[in-house]
Amino acid sequence: NQIIAEAVSRHGRHPGNVKLLAVSKRRNSAEIRQCALLGQAAFGENYLQEALPKINDCRDLGLEWHFIGRIQRNKTADVAKHFDWVHTVDRLSVAQRLNDQRPDERSPLEVCVQVNLDGAVNKAGVPPEQLTPLLAGISNLERLRLRGLMTMPEPSEDIQLQRLPFQQLAALLAAVSIDHPTMDVLSMGMSGDMEAAIAEGSTLLRIGTGLFGPRPES
Ligand SMILES: *Cc1c(COP(=O)(O)O)cnc(C)c1O
Repeated sequence: NQIIAEAVSRHGRHPGNVKLLAVSKRRNSAEIRQCALLGQAAFGENYLQEALPKINDCRDLGLEWHFIGRIQRNKTADVAKHFDWVHTVDRLSVAQRLNDQRPDERSPLEVCVQVNLDGAVNKAGVPPEQLTPLLAGISNLERLRLRGLMTMPEPSEDIQLQRLPFQQLAALLAAVSIDHPTMDVLSMGMSGDMEAAIAEGSTLLRIGTGLFGPRPES
């Protein structure tokens, strides 16, 4: 937290505009509780079968749960039912299923669209040139609320190289938010590249190892 605060002020950002998502994959419920006791309210999970028991265990804490893993088409119902946010929507068919499966008693699911900026073929994320039609489609879905863009670039050690995709994502958000004013979230930056992400305007850092320490192997 201290490290984030320093980077935020170094880049002239307002602390209230950079939120921390604690990525709790492979962390157990006790570790999540401990982190919540320190004031952390938002947690991110990648794998449904791992996340669901933890969400249930921590029900009394009123935490905010973000799904940040790959969404399989046949697993959308549990995402729609149990999560508050999803960061990895990259096709309309999945968005439609999430919309249909979002329970009426819950507020609309907050959605970030994942963008693939490296052009790698097998990677998750919508290519930038297909972003506009995808957003137009999602904006018609009443049980989803478009909130922003997410990206996960190839790892690089060089902070200048790290900044490039983040700069592209920020430019994309600035462009699309004209038509979609509810989109104000830039979900970018992990433990290894958070400084670059903060410099380029990240509003939501997804931090795992930097918060909990190295992940256990299994
Ligand atoms: C694991 C993961 C993170 C956190 O990574 P760390 O390097 O542990 O900070 C962030 N975003 C996504 C999508 C992840 O899968």
